Formats: sequence, structure tokens, C-alpha cells
Amino acid sequence: VKEHGRNSARQFVPEMGVTAISRLNMEGAMRRGLERGEFSLHYQPKIDLVTHTVIGAEALVRWHHPQIGLIQPVEFIPLAEETGLILPLGEWVLNEACRQQVIWRNHGLPLLKIAVNMSSRQFRQDDLSERIARIIQDSGADPHQLTLELTESMVMQDVSSTLSALRSLKKLGLSISLDDFGTGYSSLSYLRRFPIDELKIDKSFINDIHVNPDDAAIASAIVAMGLSLGLNVVAEGVEKIEQIQLLKEMHCHQVQGYYFAKPMDAAAFENYLIRYPVK
Ligand code: C2E
Ligand code: CA
Ligand code: CA
Ligand code: CA
Repeated sequence: VKEHGRNSARQFVPEMGVTAISRLNMEGAMRRGLERGEFSLHYQPKIDLVTHTVIGAEALVRWHHPQIGLIQPVEFIPLAEETGLILPLGEWVLNEACRQQVIWRNHGLPLLKIAVNMSSRQFRQDDLSERIARIIQDSGADPHQLTLELTESMVMQDVSSTLSALRSLKKLGLSISLDDFGTGYSSLSYLRRFPIDELKIDKSFINDIHVNPDDAAIASAIVAMGLSLGLNVVAEGVEKIEQIQLLKEMHCHQVQGYYFAKPMDAAAFENYLIRYPVK
């Protein structure tokens, strides 16, 4: 039986919002939140513009605080990274995504690749691939249906250790996606050497492609480069039909964004999948 500690609850006043909580309270609240099952994953579909089908989903963490309500990751991921809580949280996220994949498989839903976001500290763990292998084995998930999203700046930090980490993750059967692409400084030679499967063009490059020709030129160049390297290229944060038209012209056929769907909880995503065709 979960005990909702009254003492800790008293630290929070609903209307004060998350920004008013001191770092110390926040850290403790997150720790307890993990123990009490206050976190969940929401899922946002990735869409193929040619076939008009769902080709995957990105898992995005949410925190349901008993007093404050729903807390978005921008409010707690940075502190989790600073304090190291990102390690147990990241582990929980991986476990939960694998558990959900198996549930959807058992419900007879079409298999989808689920993408999980990784933090730098998590990615730099010496035993990362062993940990992930164990999670996959314990959950019964299919590693070929699991993608790790790593940011461009993260993988460029220490390229030789990145390379060996990526190789062992690929050996497990996972796919690797380079997230927030365009915001870091990847050298093209590393892009070619890293065993990656996908580039996700950062939303900031997609926002104005329909009004700003320079932005369109940059997006188009990133798409062409990614495709020429044989990578999946995904545009993130697509909100408008005009953006979709341009992305199609650039041959960027994979998109994620509010235009199609916002992230939703597992039950809503399952309903969504029943209504929309899956590749
Ligand atoms: P991200 O990985 O770049 O994820 C995409 C973010 O853009 C998500 O915000 C998503 O809800 C939002 N988004 C998607 N489509 C649109 C759109 O059309 N318009 C707009 N305005 N936004 C859109 P979210 O869920 O708040 O996550 C924010 C960031 O928090 C993520 O950015 C990621 O860096 C981090 N994050 C989320 N979940 C996790 C996690 O489980 N682990 C780690 N380490 N980081 C996470
Ligand atoms: Ca991401
Ligand atoms: Ca992103
Ligand atoms: Ca982003």
C-alpha cells in the first residue's frame, strides 16, 4: 500500500506551481515520486508522409505530482541531470517503454518502434549496454523495436567513447537516433563513422521553413545530407500544413508534431493506433 507522506505533502501549495519549490524539496519530491509511481510516459506518433501511416512513437516522461499536478520535463529533467536522479529516472523510463511495448504486442497491436530519450550522464555509464540488455531480457521486449534518442551535442562530447558505446548498443539490436540535430556541431566525418540510423531535425529549424527561405535552405540541406548518408530523416515540431508541403518537396517523409498528434498517455495512444493505420 502506498503511503502518501503527509509531512512531505505539506511542503507544497498547489497554486504556487513548480517554480516556487526549492531545489532541495524538488529533489526529495522526485526521489519519492519515483518510489511512488508518480511518473508516466506519454507517446507521440511519428508519421510517414508518403504512406500516411504511423511508423513509431517517441516516449516522453511526465510527472504527476499529487499536489501540483502534471509537471512537464523541462521543469525537472535539468535538475535530475544535475543531481544524478536522471540515472534511476532514465532506468525507469527504459523499463516502462519496454513494458509498454510488450503490453501493446500482447494486445495484438502492430509493432512500432518506441524511441526513448537519453541523458548524457545515462549515456556515459560504463555498463549502459549491460543495463539495457538486462532490461530487454527481463521485460521480454524486442530490441529491434527500441530506439535511443541521443542529442547531437551529447555524442560529440567524447567521440571515441561514443563510438564504442554506439557499437555495443547496435550489437544489441537497438536503433540510434541523433536528436535535436542542427543545434550542435557535428562534423560530417563523425556522422559517417557513427553507426546511427536516424537524424531528427530540431524544431527550431522547422518552425519557419514556410516563411523564411534561409531556414528552408538549411532544412533542405540537412535532409539531403541525411538521406545521402542513408539515414532516416525526421522533422520534429511540425505544426502547419505549409511545413508539411515543403518537407515533402525536400523528400523529408518522416515527421512528428502537433499537426498530427500531441503526446498522449498509453491508453489514448492505443486508441489512436486503433483509429489510424500503421505501416
Ligand atoms: P525532445 O526530445 O526534443 O522532445 C520533443 C519535445 O517537443 C517534446 O516536449 C514534445 O512534446 C514537443 N513537441 C512535439 N511536437 C511538437 C510541436 O509540434 N510543437 C511544439 N511546440 N512542441 C512539440 P516534452 O515532452 O515537453 O519534452 C521536452 C524535452 O524533455 C525533450 O525534448 C527531451 O529533451 C526531454 N525529455 C522528455 N522525456 C525525457 C526522458 O524520458 N528522458 C530524458 N533524458 N529526457 C526527456
Ligand atoms: Ca527526443
Ligand atoms: Ca528533439
Ligand atoms: Ca528539442
